[in-house]
Amino acid sequence: MRFDLISIFPDYFAPLRLSLMGKAEDAGLVQLHAHDLRDWATGKHRSVDDTPYGGGAGMVMRADVWARALDDVLSVPLAARGAEDAPASPRRVVAIPTPSGTPLTQPRVEDLARADQIIVACGRYEGIDARVAEHYHGVGVEVVEFSIGDYVLNGGEVAAMVLTEAVARLLDGFMGNPDSLVEESHSGAGLLEYPVFTKPREFRSIEIPEVLLGGNHAAIERWRRDRAIEKTVRVRPDLALSLDASSLTPEDRATLAHCGVAYPQAGAAERLDVRLAGLEDVVAVSELAARTFPDACPENLPQEAIDDHIARQLNPDVFDALISDPERHRVFVAEVWGGLVGYVLTHVGPDALPSELVRPGRVEDGSAYLSKCYVDQAWRGSGIADVLLERAVADAAELGHTAVVLGTNRGNKAAQAFYKRHGFRKRSTRTFDVGGVRNDDVVMVRDLTA
Ligand code: SAM
Repeated sequence: MRFDLISIFPDYFAPLRLSLMGKAEDAGLVQLHAHDLRDWATGKHRSVDDTPYGGGAGMVMRADVWARALDDVLSVPLAARGAEDAPASPRRVVAIPTPSGTPLTQPRVEDLARADQIIVACGRYEGIDARVAEHYHGVGVEVVEFSIGDYVLNGGEVAAMVLTEAVARLLDGFMGNPDSLVEESHSGAGLLEYPVFTKPREFRSIEIPEVLLGGNHAAIERWRRDRAIEKTVRVRPDLALSLDASSLTPEDRATLAHCGVAYPQAGAAERLDVRLAGLEDVVAVSELAARTFPDACPENLPQEAIDDHIARQLNPDVFDALISDPERHRVFVAEVWGGLVGYVLTHVGPDALPSELVRPGRVEDGSAYLSKCYVDQAWRGSGIADVLLERAVADAAELGHTAVVLGTNRGNKAAQAFYKRHGFRKRSTRTFDVGGVRNDDVVMVRDLTA
C-alpha cells in the first residue's frame, strides 16, 4: 500500500514513521511519501492560494496547483519492489480531508485498506477549490472527501495521519498480534470495546471485576460483551441503533433490550421503553393481547375456543379492571416508536394465586402469579420478553413476594426453555381452560429468596 501525503507542511508527517508504521515501512508493507505542494507551484513566490471568488474571509487553495500535483502522483508506478509487483489495474484513491466531508468510520477505513494507493490532499486556509474534487471525480478517479470529526482544524495534515494510521494497521502483517483487531471498538457488530484492566489488582480502592479473576472464559466473554453493549448504548446511542443485527446473539439482544434498544427480526432497531401500563393503554394492550394470544395456543385448540377466550378474557373491560387496580394486578408494557409490542401481567398481593395452585404444597405461600408474558411476532427474539419478565419479577420482589409462579402449556417447549433461562423451575402440572377446552400446563416457580 502506497500513501502519498501532499501538504504545504510535509514535515508534519515525520512522526508517522515512529513505532509500528516505521517497522511496516522497513518491511515493505507500506510506502510513505510526503510531498511539498509548493513543488508544483509556479511563479516567484510559489503561491498555492488566492482570494475566494464571491468575496469573504480567508484564502482558497488553487485548483491548478493541486491538479499538477495530483496528476503526477496519480501516475506513479505502484511496484513495491520492482515492476513485477505492480497490480494490473491499481485502485488509487484521492482522499481529501475536510470538516464538510463524510465521517471517517471503521467500515470506510476497512474499505480503503483494500486500495493500492491513497493520496491525501491536505487543505489549509479555507480549503481547496471545489473544482479539484469535481474534476477528478468526473474523470473516474475515486475521490473520498472525509471528516475526522465535527470540529475544525487548521489543516488536513492531522486528518491525513489519522487516515494513514487507521488504514495501515489493518493491512495483513502490520499488527504483531492480528487478534488485537478482532474485538476492538467499531469492529464486528459495531460495538464499542468493553473496559480493560491490568495489574495492580487493586488501584486506589477500585477492584478488578470478580468475573475476570475466575478463569471462566464463557462468563468472561459474556461479561465483556454485556459491558460493550451497555457502553455503546450509553455513550453512542447512534451506534447502538445501527449495529450489524446478523452478528447479535439472543443474549446480546436481551442485554440491548435491557439497555433500551430493541432489534426486531427484520428492519431497523428502535428505542424501547418498558413501563407500568396506565389507563390510556387499555385499548392498545387488549388489542396486543388479542393478536398475540393465538400464537401461544396449541395447534389442536379450535379457533372458536381461542376467539371465545379472547372475547371474554382479553377485552378492554378486563384490562381496564386490571390496570385500575395496581395493588393486585401489575401490567407492564413494552413500547417502541410504533406503539405497544409486548406486555406482562402479574397478580400480586395475598390472594394472587389461582385456586388450583393454592392447594398445600403446590407452590410457596407468598408467591406472585405471572399470568401473561406476550410479545408481538415481529419482535420475538429481540429480548423484549426477557426485559418484561425480569421487570415483572423485580416488581414482585419489591412488593415482598418470595416467589413467582406461572403455568405454561405443556407442549410449548420454547416457552419452558425461556422461563428456565430466567431461573424458573418446573414444580407441578395443572389443567387450564381455554374457551371450554382443557389444556395441560406445566407449573414453574422462581424462588426470590435465594
Ligand atoms: N472552511 C472550511 C470549512 O468551514 O469547512 C474549513 C477549512 S479548515 C480551516 C482547513 C483545512 O483543515 C481543511 O481544508 C481540511 O483539510 C482540514 N480540516 C479541518 N477540520 C477537519 C476535519 N474535521 N476533518 C478533516 N479535515 C479537516
